[in-house]
Amino acid sequence: MPAVSKIFIHSGKERSIERKHPWVFSGAISKNEGNLQEGDVVEVCNHKGGHLGYGHCQNGTIAVRMLSFDNQFPDADFYTDKIQSAWNLRNAIGLINNSSTSIFRLIHGEGDFLPGLIIDYYNGNCIIQCHSIGMYCDLEKIKNALIKVVGQQLKSIYQKSSSTLPKEFTAYHGDGYLFGDTAVPVVALENDNEFYIDWITGQKTGFFIDQRENRNLLGRFSKGKKVLNTFCYSGGFSVYALQNGANLVHSVDSSSKAIHLTEANIQLGKFAAEKHNSFVADTMDFIKELKEDYDIIILDPPAFAKHRAAKHNAVQGYKRLNAAAIRQIKKGGIIFTFSCSQLVDKELFTNTIIAAGIEAKRSVRSLEQLHQPADHPINANHPEGEYLKGLVIQVD
Ligand code: SAH
Repeated sequence: MPAVSKIFIHSGKERSIERKHPWVFSGAISKNEGNLQEGDVVEVCNHKGGHLGYGHCQNGTIAVRMLSFDNQFPDADFYTDKIQSAWNLRNAIGLINNSSTSIFRLIHGEGDFLPGLIIDYYNGNCIIQCHSIGMYCDLEKIKNALIKVVGQQLKSIYQKSSSTLPKEFTAYHGDGYLFGDTAVPVVALENDNEFYIDWITGQKTGFFIDQRENRNLLGRFSKGKKVLNTFCYSGGFSVYALQNGANLVHSVDSSSKAIHLTEANIQLGKFAAEKHNSFVADTMDFIKELKEDYDIIILDPPAFAKHRAAKHNAVQGYKRLNAAAIRQIKKGGIIFTFSCSQLVDKELFTNTIIAAGIEAKRSVRSLEQLHQPADHPINANHPEGEYLKGLVIQVD
């Protein structure tokens, strides 16, 4: 095992590491030993020098992201083991060689014991997004592990970290293919619905995979209904609504690029043109001036709270948005409402929706509590990993 720098943890602060929480905050560190560079693998030690594990170090509040809590050094075999085990999990939940779904998340950071790493799978193409410099430094090992684990089905590996890491680290290599060279967009399947996926110019890795099961549920509510899909991105919810017999679907996004993607996916699904319309608009403006009497409204905004200081304003934002939709929807109408802000937990989100109902002076019933799917697992030692929550509510 190569010699690496060490960091020492203040007495008493090692407890969360012993409980296998993967984040070491900068305040927990008493001193460093060695020539520490951002992205390096470091040995993490207690105040007496006892070994606690290995992690990636980086300047910032989260100073180390733990990779192992024993003597396993994060070498090539380590990445192969972790990616193989993630693949086995996706196999166990029916996502590998599934003739209806060729889109899934293969690595979900802490949930797959690889903090800082996201890998999404689109029909044989693996898109890597690094959220830590350490993972970026280990890309070669990650690539080789993917080649081994995915095997014959692997068409390409594309790495896209320029939007998730500081410029000085990604400027040299830039985004691009590490293996293969697939022309985008590709067509991939989710529950038998076809979608164009473009990881090069699309948001995130190209698609919001975490809504798969919630889109399926929307489908079950959609027959004969008039549906408004706000924050629609590439039209995932719109396609499911139409596929399941909605009478009319309106898709709204503030990005014209997103609306182009939605329209392309609606065409791909060969839905009757008169059943769908899209609008480049701010959702709040659109909802305030609703011209239609919708049966179903979907509210899936981007994370309003990206850091702690923004939490209060984020909650106010969710309340305003939901109150507007609750006020406007027809009697008996259904709202699928979501928050993907990690900092707004399930209880706070539910209370916010209750408050929105009170503000709108309507009676609200909660029908379903929604969640992120099993290919976005939550590490029990890292409850912060539960980020997507949603409610299906009915408004009288
Ligand atoms: N529901 C989508 C994912 C939503 S991502 C899906 O199933 O794929 C959030 C989307 O909100 C992005 O496409 C972004 O362009 C859009 N957005 C951000 N702010 C907005 C606003 N104020 N009004 C409308 N859309 C907005």
